[in-house]
Amino acid sequence: ETEEAFVIGCMTPLHALETHKELNAYTNGAIRESVRHIVGVQFRNCATVGGSIFGRFGFSDVLTMFLALDTWVELYNGGTIPLAQFASMEKDNDILVNIIVKKQPLNSVYLSQRNNSTDFPVLTCAAALIDGKARTVIGARPGKAMIVEDEEGILKDFVQMNVQQKKDAAASFAAYAAEHVPTDKNMRASKEYRSLLVKVLTRRAWEEIGGRAE
Ligand SMILES: Cc1cc2nc3c(=O)[nH]c(=O)nc-3n(C[C@H](O)[C@H](O)[C@H](O)COP(=O)(O)OP(=O)(O)OC[C@H]3O[C@@H](n4cnc5c(N)ncnc54)[C@H](O)[C@@H]3O)c2cc1C
Repeated sequence: ETEEAFVIGCMTPLHALETHKELNAYTNGAIRESVRHIVGVQFRNCATVGGSIFGRFGFSDVLTMFLALDTWVELYNGGTIPLAQFASMEKDNDILVNIIVKKQPLNSVYLSQRNNSTDFPVLTCAAALIDGKARTVIGARPGKAMIVEDEEGILKDFVQMNVQQKKDAAASFAAYAAEHVPTDKNMRASKEYRSLLVKVLTRRAWEEIGGRAE
């Protein structure tokens, strides 16, 4: 941790993220929540953040979480680029060296739905106010995690809203997300169930952020 950022080496195990006091204080416990359902502690002591991010797996809780922060990836050949750009790139033979989370005023939440404990997620949702700017990420759609663009500006003035306005904005953005996030079926859930989860988890995430004292 530096004044400006958390610099996370690629070999950092997921359990170290889960138990890192400062990183969890910074993310309101969202980092812990994003990894704690992954198999078990012994597994999370082996699985690395580098492998999790470089894999860009569709089911990834880790990718969903880090996309909701001001995250950059440092590549051995490719330089330092935003995670969102990296996530959309084709896999190559580069090496992921560090994951850099730039410190901005942050309010973040992580939620996931699983058919049973420790299974792969059916849907993942991370929401954050990054320096007052709203960002919502949906993953395990079952496609790769994506940032939901708020093209109607529903959450634009979220920080200035009163309690009821925040609740209303959470509900209308949730409905908007359910309409705009592409979902599909796989062995874990149907397309329709996933779209319903997009709506429910998005609303809950924004209600939780809205309910916190600034
Ligand atoms: C049974 C099981 C259940 C799981 N459940 C979940 C879950 O619920 N949610 C979730 O988010 N994840 C889940 N995972 C994924 C897991 O958390 C890890 O992300 C994954 O197993 C990668 O593990 P690893 O760190 O050992 O990487 P590896 O398997 O070693 O690497 C993954 C890929 O990335 C490449 N790679 C690794 N490190 C780098 C690097 N630094 N630079 C460039 N390329 C690199 C490797 O060559 C490989 O292609 C699960 C995995 C398993 C096996």
